[in-house]
Amino acid sequence: MTDTVFTDEQLEAGRKLFARPVAFVKGVVNRGALPAGGRPEFAFAGRSNVGKSSLINALCNRKTLARASNTPGRTQEINFFDVAEGRFWMVDLPGYGFASAPKKNVQVWSQLNLNYLRSRSKLKRVFVLIDSRRGLGDVDRGVMEQLDSAAAHYQVVLTKTDKIKKSEVAEVIAATKAALMKQPAAHPHVLATSSEKGIGMPELRATILSLA
Ligand code: GDP
Repeated sequence: MTDTVFTDEQLEAGRKLFARPVAFVKGVVNRGALPAGGRPEFAFAGRSNVGKSSLINALCNRKTLARASNTPGRTQEINFFDVAEGRFWMVDLPGYGFASAPKKNVQVWSQLNLNYLRSRSKLKRVFVLIDSRRGLGDVDRGVMEQLDSAAAHYQVVLTKTDKIKKSEVAEVIAATKAALMKQPAAHPHVLATSSEKGIGMPELRATILSLA
């Protein structure tokens, strides 16, 4: 269901990479506390409830590595996970688009994220998670504009595709790709996933390996 094609060898190498240890290292609330760069890193962004924690857990074959960030307080943190003992950082960016979040929180979120995006020279890709039932929303477009202006490469990952029909998945992929053509820093390929069913996880692992 995804348009990114990998060989069996690449998928297997991705599986092996994510079978190695993954550990939560720190939650960061201000720029000064960002860990040293120096290794490749991959960030995950998305509206709250998009399925970001579930995806990070599924990617790493864990159940409780990333916690659902359903309280606005926790959304302020950028969480760093070490993958494969120093091979790369996996970075869980604060969820955005809380209906109940005060405006001030949204701004703090943006500033911390912008600082992060602009200061990480080895940030290889930001995966922007989009709920496949909703498609791209205004808040997502706003975040993509921030990524464009920070010149941070990003790729859309559709979540929860098990909840819609295959034909609908194809439609949302097509609509998303069409919208992304206008975004300069967007990767043209869209990954369709379901953390619940494990769909798209091998491809996402192989994508990360190809850039790490
Ligand atoms: P986060 O706020 O982005 O971290 O979202 P969560 O990972 O906590 O997921 C939000 C809700 O969506 C939870 O109830 C999950 O069980 C559900 N969910 C996440 N991923 C999937 C999926 O692939 N399929 C289905 N059916 N539900 C999912």
